[in-house]
Amino acid sequence: MQRRQPSNPASLPRGRFPASRWWRAGLLVWLLAIGGLSGCSRDAPPTQLLIENVNVVDPVKGLLEKRQVLIEGGVITAVADASQTVASSANAERFDGQERFLIPGLWDMHVHFVYDMNLTDHMADLFLDYGITSVRDTGGNIDQLAELRRTMPAPKPNIYISGPLLDGKFVVYDGTDPARPALGTGVPSPGDADATVGALQAAGADFIKIYELIQPDTYAALADAAKRRAMPIASHVPLMMTADDAGPMAGSMEHLRNIELACASNWQELLSQRQQRINDFTEGLGHTLRAGLHSDQRLPAIAAYDEERCNHVLDRLTDTIQVPTLRLNTVTHIKPFEHDDWPAAASALPKVTQDAWRARIAGLTQIQPVDPTFARWSLFLIERLLARGVPIGAGTDTPIGLGIPGYSLHTELELLVQGGMTPQQALYAATVTPATFFNVENEIGQIGPGMRADLVLLQNNPLTNIQHTRGIEAVMVGGEWVR
Ligand SMILES: [Zn+2]
Repeated sequence: MQRRQPSNPASLPRGRFPASRWWRAGLLVWLLAIGGLSGCSRDAPPTQLLIENVNVVDPVKGLLEKRQVLIEGGVITAVADASQTVASSANAERFDGQERFLIPGLWDMHVHFVYDMNLTDHMADLFLDYGITSVRDTGGNIDQLAELRRTMPAPKPNIYISGPLLDGKFVVYDGTDPARPALGTGVPSPGDADATVGALQAAGADFIKIYELIQPDTYAALADAAKRRAMPIASHVPLMMTADDAGPMAGSMEHLRNIELACASNWQELLSQRQQRINDFTEGLGHTLRAGLHSDQRLPAIAAYDEERCNHVLDRLTDTIQVPTLRLNTVTHIKPFEHDDWPAAASALPKVTQDAWRARIAGLTQIQPVDPTFARWSLFLIERLLARGVPIGAGTDTPIGLGIPGYSLHTELELLVQGGMTPQQALYAATVTPATFFNVENEIGQIGPGMRADLVLLQNNPLTNIQHTRGIEAVMVGGEWVR
């Protein structure tokens, strides 16, 4: 596999994001200059590393000032007040945190490694550049993904994979159009569910991903098959079902899509129209069927929003993480390429991707007028999810919809705050909540004893301004500084 090599610093993008620049321009020089890592070998991490003089930003407890963090064998073994003596730290390597801010490594809960194959081999590096140390790949060929994960050289993020989008008789991502690569596969009947899930697990899948054209009985059979194998379930709301029916069977639901239908005062009418159109569809492309239903029903459903009905729907989703992908839902309205730091971030992409995206940006710029209804609805729903206690997870759908790997997660955090979350809640959505999806919240996602030492050192406090997650000074994966 080809990996991006550290390039000539003179050719580096000049942007606001320091992570990749630090890396290529010599992070090590800086680490040595400020007194960290003195005398340690670069070949292996020290047995014990003590990060001193640092402010810990805990997604649960908030800001813990003036701490020291002891790391041993890739795991955090102690977090103590600066005035305390940390047990067994006498011989530890020391790293001066210079009163900066340490957060747990971030997650992106919704990525696609094999969507743009020109980008595939660059994605892991980009995630680390931007402090994303864990990702959930929510759809792609299982053999490609398992091979990619197996052969990817360290350092790399923790990668969880689902394999293909499990769709119905018609498959939305069937590969017939270059704009929709073959991310999906059909599960035509409930009788196919068990063998499908068993084969995915045998091939390396950690969870399953169910898609929009699945039939309700097959959805239930897939959910059963996954639960028997202790595999979590990520899903879109199947178009034959409502969010409140499908949601409780899944661990996460993606994009907030189709919640608008369930929240409409006339949801029964919209649903039966939808079911009829799907049942009557005997020939054609899955994509055409789905796109037609979305474009005909989405805006009328939002216009018929009924808060009481929506509360009932959301109250059924209190155990189902919603991954809003606000970045994607708002892309035609809040254009990522209009941000100051976009050119620098985009310049790290391979040229072929840059060229393809330039054409897409030109297309987006020409759409007139942009209907902001769904973008506004998505942002509005964040506050409703919070009010009803529905868990929210941070995910981007990168690289779909101009999502630069890593960079886009920071945009998502900002949009979650714009939607009504506090910065601490947004950090929680990108650390603790994703870990709960895989039942690893006692191992990953916080800064405390027993937690994996996946850490990001920030220049400024992200609790005062979520944009401070962009000011990355160093990234650690499994106890090793990698940026
Ligand atoms: Zn996706």
